[in-house]
Amino acid sequence: MTGRPGRTGRGGSQASAGDLLELVRSGRATTRGALQQVTGLSRATVGQRLERLFRAGWLREGAGGPVDSPLGGRPSITLEFDDEHAVVLAADLDTRHARAALLTLTGEILAERSGTLVVEDGPDAVLGALGGWFAGLLEQAGHRAEEVCGIGLAVPGPVDTDAGRVVQPPIMPGWDGYDITGRLARAFTEHTGAAPVPVLVDNDANLMAYGEQRTGFPDCSAFVLVKVSTGIGAGVVVDGSVFRGVDGGAGDIGHIRVPEGAEALCRCGSYGCLAAVASGGAVARRLAERGVPAASGSDVRELLAAGHPEATGLAREAGRLVGEVLATVVTLLNPGVLMIAGDLAGTPFVTGVRELLYQRALPRSTARLEVVTSRLGERAGLVGAGALVVEHLYAPERVEERLRALGV
Ligand SMILES: [Zn+2]
Repeated sequence: MTGRPGRTGRGGSQASAGDLLELVRSGRATTRGALQQVTGLSRATVGQRLERLFRAGWLREGAGGPVDSPLGGRPSITLEFDDEHAVVLAADLDTRHARAALLTLTGEILAERSGTLVVEDGPDAVLGALGGWFAGLLEQAGHRAEEVCGIGLAVPGPVDTDAGRVVQPPIMPGWDGYDITGRLARAFTEHTGAAPVPVLVDNDANLMAYGEQRTGFPDCSAFVLVKVSTGIGAGVVVDGSVFRGVDGGAGDIGHIRVPEGAEALCRCGSYGCLAAVASGGAVARRLAERGVPAASGSDVRELLAAGHPEATGLAREAGRLVGEVLATVVTLLNPGVLMIAGDLAGTPFVTGVRELLYQRALPRSTARLEVVTSRLGERAGLVGAGALVVEHLYAPERVEERLRALGV
């Protein structure tokens, strides 16, 4: 969905208004002269197409002043995407906790809220509550609901992004096949009175990876993020797009079988999954067995922050188990960045990952690998969800239809 089929046409003489917008947004061509040069369009045609984008309020003249034109002659005015003509809503669901935000089109958070929302309460209740959160965020930031162009949602399960539904999610009982996008669009309308807007839903690790890669590692062409919270999942961003596989199942590494897990029953119903022995949930269970009160990944996070010795030891051991699986991931994908995120993403866990990863992976596949922890922290999923919506709505192939709907 974040792929850009319009890319192939952008350089040709058929370049559309959407292609010009894409060139400006990506920074590849930011003056009229540069747009003429890249597209081969005449000055008049570029002018006509830009005029529509100006009328829509999507483009503005840059604050930086004129720059030298590649075609020579007078210095030209720079153009930039106007990120103030609309706003985006985003939410990131974890099993017992959620976070939501109102963002600008370039990913700046305008208002944010987090709190308890339990996915086990089911999609109708959870998505209905999010509609109320969204109305509150708009009020808090002083924006009207009519300014919202779309909603992005991150969920802790495998997603069929075209259908906007989760597919057999192990830790989201009652959500399998449910019409998430339809219900959330309705909840937004019920709570704000505004017309429904497009809703895009994706897996949380995918959106965290997307948010982190775009903001922190935009030049990294192969980026992997592993989220270790109550469950374990990975997001893969290749050449700037989320890699989802044929049905959204890519990166679901929590259910790879490991020998250490032979006796452990996973929430997916199988024995031996990595998540059954090395997730925040698994560490919490082991702690509870030893009399330390812990029920979830976030409980483990708090114990780790307090330097709890048993939690620290178990987190490092979990890191070693995950590191063994990641050695295979790294050998297969040869990423430039491997980011560890989620409740367990601290020094003990990462130390464990490094121990096994460098021991098991080929030296060639780790020579230029950076192993890092999350930069955006708990906001990564929100930033990724917001970006998913913006890239979808302003993709060249969708711009023409949206401009026509605006009457320009
Ligand atoms: Zn499993």
